[in-house]
Amino acid sequence: MNDWIKTDIVVIGSGIAGLTFALESARLGMKVVILTKNETRESNTNYAQGGIAAVVTDNDSFDLHVKDTLVAGAGLCDKSAVECIVHQAPEAIAWLIEQGTNFSKTHDKALEVGREGGHSRHRIVHAKDLTGREIERALTDAVSSHPLITTIEHAIALDLSFTSGVECTGITAFIPHEHRLLSVTAKATMLATGGCGQVYAHTTNPSIATGDGYAIAARAGAELKNMEFVQFHPTSLYHPNAHSFLISEAVRGFGCELKRRDGSTFMEEYHPLGSLAPRDIVARAIVREMRLSGDTSMFLDCTAHDEDTLRAHFPTIFEECLRWGIDISKEMIPVVPAAHYECGGIVTDLHARTSIKRLYACGEVACTGVHGANRLASNSLLEAVVFAKAAAQDVIHLPEVTSGIVLHESNFSTQKGALTTSIVHLLKQEIQEVMWKNVGIVRHTQELEFAQNRLLAMADEIEYLYRHNELTLELIEVRNMTQTALLIASGAASRTENCGLHFNVNLW
Ligand SMILES: Cc1cc2nc3c(=O)[nH]c(=O)nc-3n(C[C@H](O)[C@H](O)[C@H](O)COP(=O)(O)OP(=O)(O)OC[C@H]3O[C@@H](n4cnc5c(N)ncnc54)[C@H](O)[C@@H]3O)c2cc1C
Repeated sequence: MNDWIKTDIVVIGSGIAGLTFALESARLGMKVVILTKNETRESNTNYAQGGIAAVVTDNDSFDLHVKDTLVAGAGLCDKSAVECIVHQAPEAIAWLIEQGTNFSKTHDKALEVGREGGHSRHRIVHAKDLTGREIERALTDAVSSHPLITTIEHAIALDLSFTSGVECTGITAFIPHEHRLLSVTAKATMLATGGCGQVYAHTTNPSIATGDGYAIAARAGAELKNMEFVQFHPTSLYHPNAHSFLISEAVRGFGCELKRRDGSTFMEEYHPLGSLAPRDIVARAIVREMRLSGDTSMFLDCTAHDEDTLRAHFPTIFEECLRWGIDISKEMIPVVPAAHYECGGIVTDLHARTSIKRLYACGEVACTGVHGANRLASNSLLEAVVFAKAAAQDVIHLPEVTSGIVLHESNFSTQKGALTTSIVHLLKQEIQEVMWKNVGIVRHTQELEFAQNRLLAMADEIEYLYRHNELTLELIEVRNMTQTALLIASGAASRTENCGLHFNVNLW
């Protein structure tokens, strides 16, 4: 039996996009239910280090921020979406401060701004090197004390519900520890499920980033695009146990340089901005240098700064590297690229509306047109806030869902046999390896074909397991991962020119 809740708004996900939308909807008087598959704070947002881009100083301008974003996007950005986030960025920062976010300040109490790759000015507002954690803390606190918002943790969204196949009327979720389904009916459903870094063997994303929202939307027939534009962060810590810990771009913005093992610099051979070139160029340069030298990583040199300075600006990075035996004030950090951000996703307009009525998408899962073929650093937290606020302004006008509610029919049963977790784990590993080796930073037509065929076969296999075994969080995730991986691989296979983050040597 399904449990059933009716509310005004249901939000899937509790990162910056979901929490902002929930708070703004509640501010307008709507009752909100947030479903989130882990604890509230567990999200990509919580791990964001560098900051949030905004024009907040006199020597910067909206035009420059727009221009930098369009250049990074390699001709595929939607200019109106870019202008929208850039112009609303100062207001977004003010809103986050209002919610209790403490950004780093200068001695004279102005916002301290850093610089990151692809930005022509210092404009990255941050909270030391833990910006995402600070934002997530503030928003989670605000949500938990709001009387109109209910958060249900450890509830994994499965599929959307519809009235006669046309209008989305909510979502069905699975609550693993209680082994039950929960249906939520609402006049608007927001997918704010974040990204999909986990489909790759090496990623900066936490374990929740399994691409659920892309798969849920695709199964429902929503329009998705640009999934092939996966951003690989050039500098994750190369250490077998460090889980691709991110070394923020802000470190390069602070003057630290990429080097070969022998201490020579190389980025000037690839781009006039050197170590601060756009991420795709830096990631490919590192892969090329690794191939030429046979080294397992390249290196980031921070040793021009002393320990106190590095600890003051990058306390988390300093401590994390030290934990793995690297004192960054004395030795270079070994770095390799890792899957980081999905630029494509569910197609949305300037109010976060998708191609399905009453279904909204926001944050990393959405494709607003802001990032085009490559995201400019620190534009994603900004994008999430701006469009979440715009969505709340839109849903207030929606009429109630009154008739013909059809709850999602699930084929699952709690009475079926349970799969051993090792089978699901092996399937997950295979998806990650197939994607890393064949749909990575440098692609080949034949490898893309191989990946598609293998993923298609796996999708069938996993669908069978999904239909015939007891539901578990891991099985639901691995099903979503295959479908999301397929969207990326087929997008890459069908793109006929190299552009931004998509680089196929056979098209060169
Ligand atoms: C290490 C790291 C550093 C970064 N640094 C920066 C930076 O400095 N600046 C910047 O702009 N961007 C940065 N990014 C990118 C940015 O953090 C993300 O794009 C952004 O936080 C995404 O926010 P979101 O709300 O869309 O998704 P998330 O914050 O990922 O939240 C998604 C939420 O959805 C939930 N969820 C997922 N699937 C389901 C499901 N099926 N059912 C229920 N709940 C579900 C998750 O549990 C989570 O709560 C960084 C990313 C990483 C990983």
